[in-house]
Amino acid sequence: MAEPDPAQGVIDLHVHISPHGCMHAAAQQVIDAGRHDLDVIHGAIDDPGVLLRHMDDQGVRAAAVINYPSPDVIGYPMAVNEFVARYRDHAPQRLLAVGGAHPRFERDMSGTMRHLLDDLRLDMVKVHPPHQLFAANAYVDGLDPLRVLYAECQRRRVPVMVHTGTSVFPGARCKFGRPMELDDVAVDFPELPLVMAHGGRPLWCDEAFFVVRRHRNIWLEISGIPPGALLEYFPRLEQVADRVLWGTDWPSPGVRDMRTNVARFLALPLDPAAKDRILRGNALRLFPRLSG
Ligand SMILES: [Zn+2]
Repeated sequence: MAEPDPAQGVIDLHVHISPHGCMHAAAQQVIDAGRHDLDVIHGAIDDPGVLLRHMDDQGVRAAAVINYPSPDVIGYPMAVNEFVARYRDHAPQRLLAVGGAHPRFERDMSGTMRHLLDDLRLDMVKVHPPHQLFAANAYVDGLDPLRVLYAECQRRRVPVMVHTGTSVFPGARCKFGRPMELDDVAVDFPELPLVMAHGGRPLWCDEAFFVVRRHRNIWLEISGIPPGALLEYFPRLEQVADRVLWGTDWPSPGVRDMRTNVARFLALPLDPAAKDRILRGNALRLFPRLSG
């Protein structure tokens, strides 16, 4: 089985490192259960160097560090944004800062987006409907701060990652994970790069594939899908291979490590050029800074 070439390097667009102690205990238990690599995970919170060395071991050249506020369901406060921006500044050629705002709690979304995008220079904004408790298109039903969030990102061409699919965290509401809601967003914000995280797995992959094929501004990010089963969920993946993005969701439940996922993906019967685009080439088009 071919290993990823460390000199070329995989780009993992979905890695979670969040500040200590900000998760509700029940959510933390979901993350910690059965993990063999808690020392790395906890060490990486205090020191980005620990994550970078771990990425070296795993054959991963660059990673997006995902955060988003979810004070009620998960526990993440708004301060995760400052955390992740500082974290990225340690190694901007290898780390992307992904943060967010909370449309149900935000009173001044324009001001907050100015802070996130102009002061903190977040590389991507994460919207997590099952953990933030609204649909990804809820602005059509009056959740105006969400419209402002998308509009401000579109104006600056900053990608928005939207969680699609279910969630196992206590308090998550899975009904908000449907990919079809991104159809509205892509129609209303045609210049906004939209990264559909998890491809609607495991219930709505057909719907996800339809929406990705329909809209050129939607990218399919495949973290959270067991790589060995990827072609069962997306039999026609190669048709959209120029907009598929690699991610693992490490260290979420069920994700052993980054390298194992890459090895399983490389074993799939896909065109080698498509594999290369998915593992890094597409991410470099979306985030050119990582080429430098
Ligand atoms: Zn995730």
